[in-house]
Amino acid sequence: MCSRCWVSPGNASSCELRRGMREQTWHDPAEYRADRRMAGMTRPTPEGTSAAAREIAADVFCLGPWGRTQTDVYFVRSGSSWVLIDAGWANDASRIKRAACSLFGADSRPAAILLTHCHPDHAGSALSLARDWGCAVYMHPDELPLATADFAAIVASAGPLDRWVVLPLMRAMGRRRREAVLARSSLGEVARMFEPGAGVPGLPGWRCIPTPGHTPGHVSYFRPSDRVLITGDALVTLKVNSWSGLLLQRPGLSGPPWYTTWNRRAAKESVGRLACHEPSVLAVGHGRPMTGAGTAAALSAYAAPARER
Ligand SMILES: [Zn+2]
Repeated sequence: MCSRCWVSPGNASSCELRRGMREQTWHDPAEYRADRRMAGMTRPTPEGTSAAAREIAADVFCLGPWGRTQTDVYFVRSGSSWVLIDAGWANDASRIKRAACSLFGADSRPAAILLTHCHPDHAGSALSLARDWGCAVYMHPDELPLATADFAAIVASAGPLDRWVVLPLMRAMGRRRREAVLARSSLGEVARMFEPGAGVPGLPGWRCIPTPGHTPGHVSYFRPSDRVLITGDALVTLKVNSWSGLLLQRPGLSGPPWYTTWNRRAAKESVGRLACHEPSVLAVGHGRPMTGAGTAAALSAYAAPARER
């Protein structure tokens, strides 16, 4: 008996969830098959060799995944303008600018940079890009204290890795040096808040879905017309919560990495909230985007235990 839809194994072909999961594909089915064949041998994309941004849904372009963290950023066109969603690590600005030039032209500037959350692998190049492009960096109000490198906020939203490693190192620096280091990473001069219920800056037709847990102000971005969902770290397609999956970069749906997550219970609830939107495209912060007829069913199956807890 299938525990989720109550179909017996002998009649498995009629199990909607199983059929959905069979139909699930990554953005590029050939890549997915290759992943399945080489699950134990997958290697990170070498620096500097990632492909140009690819259109994964109408007007939604994915740059990535690249590097050991298999990072993705997204360009979303809206009429004659566009926005960047997430900004990679601190040394990713030139990679992102090259992709923007090839998509929109050499002198094109985005209407805004939007962040899913304010960790260094998503906001790392936001300040330099915002300065170069002359645009603001938008985020949920609860994320602003992290964006402005407020030490008390960093302590309050710390995950296990922060508590075990990062915060002891920062405390050992002493207050003056710590404040100087934090000031260099602050997005204060470009950071802007937006109200989650009031639409998404630069993207009419999109909605903000609060997905707290990984950080207090983590959000996802959703386009209801075709159910495209940009998830940040609320949901990824790398097995980041097992050591073998992390080291070998195995593909598969996962919630955020527990070791960098502020509130694991809230993160699980956020996964369930995203599943309720039945996305047709999962544009994740790490790993390959997932598309195809089985995407919503695969997410529902993954999220079911989280919803039951
Ligand atoms: Zn991340």
